[in-house]
Amino acid sequence: MSTTASPPSVADVVTELDRRYPPAWAEEWDRVGLVLGEPTDPVRRVYGTVDVVPETVAEALAAGADLIVAHHPLLLRGVSSVAPTTWKGRIVHDLIRAGAALYVAHTNADTAAPGVSDALAARFGLTGLRPLAPSAPGSPAAGGGRGIGRIGELPAPMTLAELTRHAAAVLPATVWGVRAGGDPGRIVRTLAVSGGSGEGFLAAATAAGVDAFLSSDLRHHPSGEHLAAGGPALLEAAHWATERPWLDDVAAHLRADFGVETVVSDLDTDPWTVHAAAPAMDDKEPRP
Ligand SMILES: [Zn+2]
Repeated sequence: MSTTASPPSVADVVTELDRRYPPAWAEEWDRVGLVLGEPTDPVRRVYGTVDVVPETVAEALAAGADLIVAHHPLLLRGVSSVAPTTWKGRIVHDLIRAGAALYVAHTNADTAAPGVSDALAARFGLTGLRPLAPSAPGSPAAGGGRGIGRIGELPAPMTLAELTRHAAAVLPATVWGVRAGGDPGRIVRTLAVSGGSGEGFLAAATAAGVDAFLSSDLRHHPSGEHLAAGGPALLEAAHWATERPWLDDVAAHLRADFGVETVVSDLDTDPWTVHAAAPAMDDKEPRP
């Protein structure tokens, strides 16, 4: 379609994104799909971002984007006002005034295959991918290798310490970096990854018998108890860094399908902006 003279409409692109990420695959609490924008407006440039925040909206509008594809919903809970005097209302006004549309694919993109965790797995070159938590039989997304997270084999075994450094190198750069829990010398061959908050899948990672599990938002007690029970080693990256790789896949797909221009934001929207390692921690012996 890249040879056609007229650009696709917002509705055309939404139809394709809804086909790839059907809203019925989203969790019940989630809010996905077209958030705002005229369906008949043309789309020449698409901007991809994990978060719709003032900084990424400014970047999108400066780039001349007609459509923003975002991962996290801007309006997840009920609102009674989008007055421009509010933080989110300001964003809604800025986008409508600029004539830019906003589309969200969240848990439906997590579940899809290829989806968010496939793109994350690809950063590690994982092969033989299968879902960490397959979509439930009988659910709208059942089958097709769909579900949350991916399990695969690393191209070569490495220690947990090596894998942690490797993860920091292959994932989008953040101040947070990557930290890991477990024996630094543990050999990792099979890795489970889950983009976004993966704490709810610690038991699934243990049941799958993987050597390590990489996700984000892993808290002290659930993580400590998981490791104490002999579960897979844990790697925790910044939430944004685990989901950002997916946007490249979306952009490539839209370029191929519609011949549109794409811009993917590398603006780190993780809340954490400062990181300091304690002095001399490199020499410290790990806990036995
Ligand atoms: Zn997320």
